[in-house]
Amino acid sequence: MFGKKKETNCPICGQELKTGIFGDAVKVADGFICGACASKLRNDFPVKEGISYSYQGAKRIDNNDPLTGFTIKYIKERMEDMG
Ligand SMILES: [Zn+2]
Repeated sequence: MFGKKKETNCPICGQELKTGIFGDAVKVADGFICGACASKLRNDFPVKEGISYSYQGAKRIDNNDPLTGFTIKYIKERMEDMG
């Protein structure tokens, strides 16, 4: 163990969040939600990938993930609507 581990739980369902490289936590506007909650939301708000070009003409992949702009409050309301 390296120091005290910070416990973080999904604010939506209360599951422990797995952050880091191997985690499935998804960043939202004001925190993180777990992968299970994110995948429920993905049915309504899928990630859109698109190719764009920088000013120098370099090609890059744009990840337009709508979840990153959502607040936890908004996600909670959406989840309640979904039932
Ligand atoms: Zn969750």
